[in-house]
Amino acid sequence: MDFEWETEYREFRQELRHFIKEWRTPELLEEYSATYGAGGELISAFHEELDRRGWMRMCWPREQGGLEKNPLFQYLFVEEMEYWGMPYGNLTFTSIAPSIVAFGSDDQKAEYLPGIYQGRLTFALGYSEPNAGTDLASLRTRAELDGDEWVINGQKIWTSLADVSTHLWLAVRTDSNARHGGISLMIVPTDAPGVTIRPLYTMYGGHTCETFYDDVRIPKENVVGGVNQGWPIIMHALNHERVGLAATGAYARLYDQLVEYLKTERPERMADPVLRRQLAELELEIREHRTLALQNAWIISQGGTPIAEASMAKVSGSELRARLANAAMDLIGREGGISGESGGHAPFEGRAEFNFRLAPIFRFGGGTNEIQRDIIAAAGLGLPR
Ligand SMILES: Cc1cc2nc3c(=O)[nH]c(=O)nc-3n(C[C@H](O)[C@H](O)[C@H](O)COP(=O)(O)OP(=O)(O)OC[C@H]3O[C@@H](n4cnc5c(N)ncnc54)[C@H](O)[C@@H]3O)c2cc1C
Repeated sequence: MDFEWETEYREFRQELRHFIKEWRTPELLEEYSATYGAGGELISAFHEELDRRGWMRMCWPREQGGLEKNPLFQYLFVEEMEYWGMPYGNLTFTSIAPSIVAFGSDDQKAEYLPGIYQGRLTFALGYSEPNAGTDLASLRTRAELDGDEWVINGQKIWTSLADVSTHLWLAVRTDSNARHGGISLMIVPTDAPGVTIRPLYTMYGGHTCETFYDDVRIPKENVVGGVNQGWPIIMHALNHERVGLAATGAYARLYDQLVEYLKTERPERMADPVLRRQLAELELEIREHRTLALQNAWIISQGGTPIAEASMAKVSGSELRARLANAAMDLIGREGGISGESGGHAPFEGRAEFNFRLAPIFRFGGGTNEIQRDIIAAAGLGLPR
């Protein structure tokens, strides 16, 4: 058994790294962080180039403009994009696109997929409501058919990126007499009349959103996968979301930057056995996590949808991020708390401080870690629910 990537994958990763090096300018990163990836001139040009190379659609079916390459290429693509903090559509690309491929009508595929791989269309996930988080099946936002249109009324919360997305991937109730079987999934343009989006500021300095729906009208055809058929689609999208959230790149870079910083800025500390042990422990954890991420990619490459494995990767990744950020604070010392806004004073662009604030949020996104552990017990170990 050979655990090394085959030549074509290694060559692709090499090409990708050269490409990113060329495109990763301070101006592009600035535009990315200022717009949350919604775009601007530089991000559009970057996406155009990605599209010209066919990289965003390389693992998709040919009839959707794809190149039908092994999904492991997409794993490498996401891994590198995350490592270098480049805009690639994130959950629109890793969660919504595969769900449209799996459940969308031919018209929906034709309408949305090209826009996703060209970077023109982005989706915010509208599942959670003030009274429906973990128990999502109790959601109340409802859609009623009026002629050829659905009329949507209700409220969502934590609709992250709604203010910078073109569309909402919205879970709504279409039958109040059934729980799971009364939910449909609809695609709603964020600029549809009746959609109101308000920011909710969070501890990491950025914001998520609450969204309100007052007599929002969308065409009948915007239901994905059939009326009252939304639950399995949501589960499919959530499993892919968890895999996407667990991409190793962002953690691996934080770790690499930490080690590099300590070696160059604190060489006198490199003999400290406590520091050495802590770094070795983190190296081990990153490798373990990468194995889980790869296992998920492999399941997807075999045409499957990981369930327990997706939850494992989500728990492992989110908790690893927190441990890494904590360790960075310990090992860097007081400068670790300087934010990137202070320019050159902050060790490695303030990423230690930023991740320290950001890490807790990943415990909730994609479903809380308590619930992921329940899924592992039930779907992975076969324990009773
Ligand atoms: C910053 C941020 C961004 C988010 N982005 C999005 C988004 O883009 N789209 C979206 O739809 N949602 C989003 N969410 C919502 C997220 O998915 C929910 O917060 C999560 O599903 C939990 O729901 P809740 O907050 O209502 O907590 P609750 O369901 O009320 O749970 C509260 C606590 O009780 C625990 N708990 C609940 N039930 C059980 C149980 N049966 N067994 C054991 N423990 C239990 C939970 O683990 C949690 O710790 C986001 C959340 C945050 C904080």
